[in-house]
Amino acid sequence: MDVQERIKNLRKIIELNSYKYYVEDSPELEDYEYDKLFRELKELESEHPELITPDSPTQRVGAISEKFNQVAHKVRLYSLDNSNNSDELKQWYNRVLKDVGEINSTQLLLLANNYKDIDLVAELKIDGLAISLTYEKGVFVRGLTRGDGTIGEDITNNLKTVKSIPLRLFEEVDIEVRGELYMPITSFNKLNAQQLANNQKTFANPRNAASGSIRQLDPKISADRDLSIFIYAAIIDKNKNILTHSDAMDYCKKLGFKVNNYTICKNINQVIEYCSNMQEKRKELDYATDGVVIKVNSLAKQTELGFTARAPKWATAFKFPPEEVWSTLRDVEFSVGRSGIVTPVAIIEPVNLSGSVVSRASMYNFDELQRLDVSVNDEVLVKKAAEIIPKVVKSRKTSNSKPIDIPKTCPCCNTPLIEIQGEVATYCPNKEGCSAQIIGRIEYFASKQGMDIEGFGGNVIEKLYKKGYLKNPSDIYKLKAQELLTIDLIQEKAASNLLNAIETSKNAILSKFINALGIRFVGKESSDILAQNFKDIYALEGATFEELSAIAGIGVKIAQSIVEYFRDEKNISMIDEIISLGVKIKNKYSGIVDLRLKGQSFVLTGTLETMSREVAQAKLKELGAKTPNSVSKNTTYVVVGSNPGSKATKAQELGIKILSEAELIKIIEGEE
Ligand code: NAD
Repeated sequence: MDVQERIKNLRKIIELNSYKYYVEDSPELEDYEYDKLFRELKELESEHPELITPDSPTQRVGAISEKFNQVAHKVRLYSLDNSNNSDELKQWYNRVLKDVGEINSTQLLLLANNYKDIDLVAELKIDGLAISLTYEKGVFVRGLTRGDGTIGEDITNNLKTVKSIPLRLFEEVDIEVRGELYMPITSFNKLNAQQLANNQKTFANPRNAASGSIRQLDPKISADRDLSIFIYAAIIDKNKNILTHSDAMDYCKKLGFKVNNYTICKNINQVIEYCSNMQEKRKELDYATDGVVIKVNSLAKQTELGFTARAPKWATAFKFPPEEVWSTLRDVEFSVGRSGIVTPVAIIEPVNLSGSVVSRASMYNFDELQRLDVSVNDEVLVKKAAEIIPKVVKSRKTSNSKPIDIPKTCPCCNTPLIEIQGEVATYCPNKEGCSAQIIGRIEYFASKQGMDIEGFGGNVIEKLYKKGYLKNPSDIYKLKAQELLTIDLIQEKAASNLLNAIETSKNAILSKFINALGIRFVGKESSDILAQNFKDIYALEGATFEELSAIAGIGVKIAQSIVEYFRDEKNISMIDEIISLGVKIKNKYSGIVDLRLKGQSFVLTGTLETMSREVAQAKLKELGAKTPNSVSKNTTYVVVGSNPGSKATKAQELGIKILSEAELIKIIEGEE
């Protein structure tokens, strides 16, 4: 196909899908697929500028329906150009500096990282739909969608039902403001649950839900939906003498509009820092954001910089790296863990996910392979999970799809695999002879959450195991320098560092030692609880099932697993040997009598004023409390600082008692 033909085709597909997205609120393509087509069109047009036409989607904004009255905007609305990483942000900033004459082309080359200061404003990019609101003498008279930027849809009556849109301002002014209409995430989840219960169509995301809710012919439906708005731009009478975007936003707040927090940055490096902070913080917010918008603060400089056909030159949108992305499944590896569980691992075409390149993703267990109906060469959607390892959440067949070869025997030792009743996992039962399990147990023992032996990772352990120097964790304390030096990775200096690290680990802490043993179902939290309840490892060895299961936080499954572990003589002798080789285990909890918050669980949200959240959590833990990250029906209190996240809302929904910082301090100090 020649270029002209391809451009024509791309325009057709993009226009059709724009219509489905903006007008029907029912996109058929994933955003990444649409963006890929859009990028291809932009690239072809930049290689062949003679083929650009004014009606190309690259020269226009959005789309418009005939469902509502169409009204021309007094001042055009634009889209935003994107910056996908810090280099692109710097390039944008350089262009801004050059265009406002702060630097010339030669200086531009010399400046490198030493940027001149120019005030920028950074604010969150809300993922909703753009709306313009017109007020005459302080009274709301008209509300339009962005539409195609020149003409919008008149949805005034629907917008009147949105509580955060003032019907009358605190001043009798003529003003037009622009903002992003959105649906809070909790309301979106509730709406979708309701739609599902009523057998009605659910919305793909909060943006579609907001757009679908406000663009209704019957305003009563809009009124029923929980919608809100953040104002991010205003066209203000010159007489007001407002010279910067930040002053304009402060003025809007004074008039009664809801304006989100903004941050003034003195240069692009401060912007980059803001973007990276917000990447994590936004997860606590109850509204969807897809990036940060960066704007030149001076309105005079904005005018000087002007617009392209689609977007202002004085602003850019930094897009947060995707939390989920499509890739191709190249192969499936079956890895055997320290407890014998065999886990399918997806080997994927490397992709950028949340800012890092990912080539492996978890698929948890054999049942998950079936549930996902996944085959080799499928397209797979990979998502950043709460854990560090990303997971595959969806798959799509291709013409090349080939079934996965599911093993019947252990990929490491060839023992037939088994399934334990009541568990979803598939196991290799060869605990004593399967090298993957033995190496895994030693690696876990030496890891940060266990004995924390620096530099003693899987690679070194595997080699020492193969040479016969390591068969179980206690062998670590018998290692000699000559043995370490037989490994090709290790030179004298490294061997001595390793031996020092092993020596240091001999001063162990009971909770970490228990965790290092790798007892099934006993993780960091339960090891900590056990250390609070048993003065030393011998007391734990002798504990009965009844004693263990009576402890708050130690369930029946964990209690049973601990009893089974210590019933095995080999485990007892291994622990005895470790101790006889010089490992001293101290219990940080012995001597602490004040465990008055034992059994209580505190979830913290928002910023505390007198201490960091980490310090507050450490204090609570010292008093025996648990401090999980999420709210559940087992939570005793939710402590709310300033700018709290969705946890506060969830606490209210579940009827959990909310504490202020002052109340928390009283509890910690024992005044309540
Ligand atoms: P955009 O959403 O990327 O950025 C521009 C918009 O950001 C503005 O119009 C404004 O509404 C909004 N915004 C939010 N917070 C803001 C703030 N603080 N300051 C200024 N503006 C702010 O651009 P767009 O043109 O509206 O949409 C493009 C997006 O829509 C792409 O991500 C694309 O994937 C998606 N899309 C998808 C399909 C599909 O078929 N899946 C079709 C069309 C468009």
